[in-house]
This record gives sequence, structure tokens and C-alpha cells, in this order.
Amino acid sequence: MPDTYRRILLKLSGEALMGPMESGIDPATLNRFATEISDLLKEGVQVGLVIGGGNIFRGAGLAAAGMDRVKGDQMGMLATVMNSLAMQDALIRLGSPCRLMTAFSVGTLSEPFDRDRAIRHLEQGRAVIFAGGTGNPYFTTDSAASLRAIEIQADILFKATQVDGVYSDDPKRNPDAERFEHLSYDEAIDRRLMVMDTTALALCRENRLPLQVFNIHEPGNLRRAATGEAIGTRVE
Ligand code: UDP
Repeated sequence: MPDTYRRILLKLSGEALMGPMESGIDPATLNRFATEISDLLKEGVQVGLVIGGGNIFRGAGLAAAGMDRVKGDQMGMLATVMNSLAMQDALIRLGSPCRLMTAFSVGTLSEPFDRDRAIRHLEQGRAVIFAGGTGNPYFTTDSAASLRAIEIQADILFKATQVDGVYSDDPKRNPDAERFEHLSYDEAIDRRLMVMDTTALALCRENRLPLQVFNIHEPGNLRRAATGEAIGTRVE
């Protein structure tokens, strides 16, 4: 394997874990992702992970239904912890050591996030899952992924999506939508291309962190991206 990337941060949305289900976690989908991550770890790639919570709760959705936004966001952040526990379990069952670090204390369930300790775990070949988002309401796990990727000095941020990159419009609704192979952060922000939210994009831009967006449901794509193949869309 060409050692293109030494350290990556992979952002998986909560929805990706649903597979064919309407909500929750599909065990087969979780295990497939875990297998691909475990294979990368075994080849010596250092892997940090951020997993969303949208398959369980999203603060904005709860607020639209009448709930206080901050409480809703706290529920969303806890949802990311549940998904992360499931991924940690799947990785450990595959023989890949994995630590869970949270932005806020959840007692004995995780380690508190500590950048230096996270880097030491990664250097020792352990996956590290950064759960609980940024720990603050009104943020997203995309912003948490950008932040953690920058903090751990990842070579690249991988955003795993349900389609094969960034399009000029929703490819499911508009057959003329074009897929971009390359984009600048300025274009992504100015054209509101929905790659990630503006906070997350601005953090990447300011810290010169490249981003690659690709379809995680296509088997082998994670490895392709990790070996430097130009799949999906690259934003930099
Ligand atoms: N969240 C938050 N602060 C953060 C990250 C997440 O309040 O730093 C909450 C927010 O309510 C969000 C939910 O957690 O809707 C789940 O995260 P996200 O929507 O990013 O998950 P994804 O869409 O990736 O599944």
C-alpha cells in the first residue's frame, strides 16, 4: 500500500449507520464500515473518527417540534456517543484497539478529550473516536470533525456521504446536476454547495486542511481514498 496518508480523520454521519433502516444502527452496515476501518489500521494508517448522531436525534429537528434548542443539541451530542460506542465495539470485536474520547464527561464510558493523548493513541495504532461533537450546542459534527482533524494534525479529512462527491445540485432530484472533481473552499462556501456547514468549511480553509468527499456505501472506497485515489470530490 503506498503510504499516501499517514493520519486521516473520517467523518461518518449518523445516517450512514442506518443502512437500509429508517433510524438507529444497522449491524451489517456498521460491521462493514468497521471492517474497512480495521483493514486500514492493520496497514498502518492512523485513523481518527467522528460519527454524527442524526440517525437518533438532531437538535434542530427537536427544536422544530417545540423543544428547547440547547437541550435538543445536548440530546444530539449524546446520540453521537451512542453511535460511537457501537463503532468502538465493532472495531474491538474485529481485533482493532479503539479508544473513545468525548468532548464532555460521560463518567467511566470514555476518556475526556485530550489532544496529546489522542495523538499518542493514534501513534500506537489505536483508532480514536471523538464523540460528543464539539461539546457545544449550535455546532455540528462536521465542525467537530474539522476541529479534531486540525487538532490531531490529520493529513486529510474524509467526509463519507451517501453520494459520490459534491454536486452542483441534488443529483437525486436533478439529473443535470454536475459532480465536481475539485473545488476550492471559497467556491464551496460562496456557492453554498452543502459540502459541510460554513463553520466547518471555514475552519478547514483557515487551517489548510484538505477535504475529500466520497460515497462510503461503495465497498473499498475508504481504502481507495486512503491510498490517494482521486475518488469523489476534493476540496482544498
Ligand atoms: N451537536 C451539537 N454540537 C456539536 C455536534 C453536534 O449540538 O458540536 C448536536 C446537534 O443537535 C446535531 C446532533 O448533535 O444535530 C447530531 O449531530 P449531526 O447533526 O452533526 O449528525 P449527522 O448529521 O452527522 O448524523
